[in-house]
Amino acid sequence: MKILVINSGSSSIKLQLLEMKGETALASCLVERIGEEIGLCRCVFRKGSAAEQAIERRQAIANHREGMRLALSILTDAQQAVLVNHDELVAVGHRVVHGGEDFHQPCLIDDAVIQAIEAVAPLAPLHNPANLDGIRVAMELLPGLPQVAVFDTAFHQTMPPHAYHYALPRRLYLENRVRRYGFHGTSHQYVAGECARLMAKPLDETNLITAHLGNGSSMTAIEKGKSIDTTLGLTPLEGLIMGTRCGDIDPSIHAFLARVRGMDIAEIDAMLNKESGLKGICGLNDMRDIHAAVEQGDADAALALDMLTYRNRRYIGAYMAVLGRVDAIVFTAGIGENDAVVREKSLAGLENFGIVLDPEKNRGRQSGAREIGAAASKTRLWVIPTNEELAIARQTLALTGDGEKGGGGKSVD
Ligand code: ADP
Repeated sequence: MKILVINSGSSSIKLQLLEMKGETALASCLVERIGEEIGLCRCVFRKGSAAEQAIERRQAIANHREGMRLALSILTDAQQAVLVNHDELVAVGHRVVHGGEDFHQPCLIDDAVIQAIEAVAPLAPLHNPANLDGIRVAMELLPGLPQVAVFDTAFHQTMPPHAYHYALPRRLYLENRVRRYGFHGTSHQYVAGECARLMAKPLDETNLITAHLGNGSSMTAIEKGKSIDTTLGLTPLEGLIMGTRCGDIDPSIHAFLARVRGMDIAEIDAMLNKESGLKGICGLNDMRDIHAAVEQGDADAALALDMLTYRNRRYIGAYMAVLGRVDAIVFTAGIGENDAVVREKSLAGLENFGIVLDPEKNRGRQSGAREIGAAASKTRLWVIPTNEELAIARQTLALTGDGEKGGGGKSVD
């Protein structure tokens, strides 16, 4: 029962092949630098407990079609024997960044779904067209297989109107669908499910704050298993301080910069997305480099760390107020899973709210899901590795009917 998961970006494609019996990743491929002079396709094969094996090809990769074709040819490499031919695949799951208001759950892709994804592309101009490229190429190269779209926004469609509306003239919502959507939904939903399972509590009775802290970051308030608020908004710029994105700022900064520095909207938008956040504050956007700089006495790096963790703490407080009772706080993604200092500083001083970290557990070196709260902590504290590919594969399998090809899909919801 094999599922191929595809995450197609503007100049790269990530593919993962999973065996759903036992839920293991058999191989992962990264196709990079599509359209450049020399592209790269690297596939890593994992077979049981045997050492990983990698196959790498460097060659011109003109477009997504060529990139996907190359990756599929490596995946079906006879020597690796993880995928003898495409018929072994049950379905293909695609990550789609923006589903707008139309998609509350994954759906089987047909022409109407493609049109609906196209229709919301203005809300995610960098992502949705690239996701669609991947879908179209996969449909062409793997004909007859069910293809499923799993949306980053879908999990947050349960947010109530008072959480998702902006206080802007109503016509902007009515005419242009300007509202908060939220992203990283597949990750928040996955770690929420894992956390409830680890606590042996039904998800629909569990209140959580999930913190997905990576290059892009977001926090979600989850009530009885459902997202009721999240930090990212119309686009993935709002909320927490990220690697290169600013998070919350005074929206008047746009007008001020236009007036005082003569910047136009495109310049300001690029600056807020690519030159801000940690990078804007201290010139570095990788948290590992920031810690190294702090150790060298870099005051800007220390400020960046303080600002990021202060913003995290502010949102934890806000979501505690929103939820009333919080059973657990979950940290995930690159920083959330690996950075004990960020977790400690983000939770500092919250003892009176029933949040008490166990410093030793927090700094422990083990990987995998683990509890980091002290016995006295009323709210349990967890680190849970995210696995968006597995989450997409599970949802793809669920929609394609127990692994039977062509099984009952759903249309736009
Ligand atoms: P993305 O949002 O691109 O999926 P990830 O979830 O992979 O990002 O997170 C990437 C970020 O995680 C890196 O930029 C880095 O800041 C951080 N990171 C990764 N490993 C560590 C580590 N061991 N310690 C601290 N930060 C880390």
